Amino acid sequence: MRVDDIFKQAKQAGALPVSFEMFPPKGDLTMEKAREVAGSWAELHPDFISVTYSAGGSGNKGATADIAQMITDELGIPSVAHLTCISLTREGLKEKIEDFRAHGIRNVLALRGDVPHDASNTPDTPDFHYAKDIIPQLVDAGFCVGAAAYTEGHIECDDLQTSIEHLKQKQDAGASFFVTQLFFDNEYFYRFRERADKAGITVPVTAGIMPFMSKDQVARMVFMCGASLPSPVIKLLARYENDPDSLRAAGIEYACRQLENLRDHGAEGLHVYAMNRPSVARACMSAIRGA
Ligand code: FAD
Repeated sequence: MRVDDIFKQAKQAGALPVSFEMFPPKGDLTMEKAREVAGSWAELHPDFISVTYSAGGSGNKGATADIAQMITDELGIPSVAHLTCISLTREGLKEKIEDFRAHGIRNVLALRGDVPHDASNTPDTPDFHYAKDIIPQLVDAGFCVGAAAYTEGHIECDDLQTSIEHLKQKQDAGASFFVTQLFFDNEYFYRFRERADKAGITVPVTAGIMPFMSKDQVARMVFMCGASLPSPVIKLLARYENDPDSLRAAGIEYACRQLENLRDHGAEGLHVYAMNRPSVARACMSAIRGA
């Protein structure tokens, strides 16, 4: 099923689409592990599951289409395959389109991508500079195309207004839904939503939430995406600095409260960066739907 149709139907029914993001597990048992993770999530009836593509410049992109196909064909859950264009050529995009078609992929999250750790993988004169550059071809090929949104502005962009103008370009290019980068303070989402409305963003924007699990993980994420750390999060990180189990529990609890607050304030969708953890997905779904 197309994700834009999921949002349309949910709106008519007064429902709130909930989705999870997974990354292809590394190693020999990639598919087995992915099946295990997605299988446990499927029991929670998410509206869709998205599968990252070489996220964080890790180079781990080979299994994205296979996993997305497995989620839809074996588990009956709509899936979204992420695709980055930072190292993609025009020819490569055509091949990807064919590959996604062969895998029965219906939905693609079009991204520029994080700069790879090994910069030698990035062409000097790229065929595509921005995510918006690949959206029209994907739409023409019949995919439902989503893109990334940044509640605090993208880390390379100087101000939120410019970031929102770039978001509008992605909508104009054919994106029919957006998923936000993680944020720890819902006020940023509400302010962003207001400004995005004024800028003419009319497609659904689903709010992305990632529970914090450790100080290192938070530091990595903050440096990678520039998310602000509100003082309640800093206090929890300090309080449980030497108690990893309590810190993880506090991170999940904090994310659950964020999700409930977003649900109660009319978010159009909730997307959980569930880090391939069944327990995270379960706790978040239970907070949102009371299941
Ligand atoms: P773009 O929209 O192309 O923007 C990149 C930068 O260029 C921004 O600073 C933007 O403001 C600027 N820009 C855009 N248009 C213009 C213009 N016309 N003129 C000048 N500047 C412009 N990364 C992965 O590697 N794999 C993944 O699977 C993955 N999944 C993600 C999922 C979500 C929901 C999100 C939010 C991010 C994900 N990322 C992933 C990270 C993403 O690739 C990075 O944030 C990347 O730095 C930007 O990608 P983008 O698609 O938003 O880029």
